Amino acid sequence: MNPFVIPPPEPPSAAVAGTELRFPIRRVFCVGRNYAAHAREMGKDPTREPPFFFMKAADMVVPAAGVVPYPMLTRNLHHEVELVVAIGGHGVRVRPEEALELVWGYGAGVDLTRRDLQDEAKALSRPWEWSKSFDASAPCSPLRPASEIGHPSGAIWLEVNGQSRQRGQLQDLIWPVPDVISYISQSVALQPGDLIFTGTPAGVGALQPGDEVRGGVDGVGEFAFRVGPVPA
Ligand code: MN
Repeated sequence: MNPFVIPPPEPPSAAVAGTELRFPIRRVFCVGRNYAAHAREMGKDPTREPPFFFMKAADMVVPAAGVVPYPMLTRNLHHEVELVVAIGGHGVRVRPEEALELVWGYGAGVDLTRRDLQDEAKALSRPWEWSKSFDASAPCSPLRPASEIGHPSGAIWLEVNGQSRQRGQLQDLIWPVPDVISYISQSVALQPGDLIFTGTPAGVGALQPGDEVRGGVDGVGEFAFRVGPVPA
């Protein structure tokens, strides 16, 4: 017998590039300030203080394709292009040397941010939640398995209406992927299906309705989408 009192939601998932297969999404972890130049543009000293994290709900991940809706409640929607790590294994207190064994694959995503709400939250010492976690706040390209592409080390970039906005190098991550995995696994048990947005390089800025956004990570993939209209 069906035990659910209402119809259960579809399990969130992301496309696997070049296939009909799906990667099931369990949770979404995001790293704050993980490139020195971006930390500086946000008015912070990019010393190697321990990384910090926030989360988005799994069903906030949407294809970085077609039209991505402009969210409610903001007048300052910012793009943050990020390497996305897809976790395929279980790990607690993982050492950095063994962390890459947990990686199933990679994608290129955007940590959309309601910057005005974030500025307000910072000023009032409130959580970032409302600025980071909203419907369609995590557009992501199709994922590709590490067994095919290895572990990426090249450029990460984003352009708006054909103009370059963000360009960085994965080698410039303050906390590289193995360290990020290790840190998260000191706090919670990483599980298959977890995604990690690993932080954004410098050049974040506002998106307007109708903007054409392109971006990608070398060796991983590219994406292109249009920003939808301001909701009525
Ligand atoms: Mn971010």
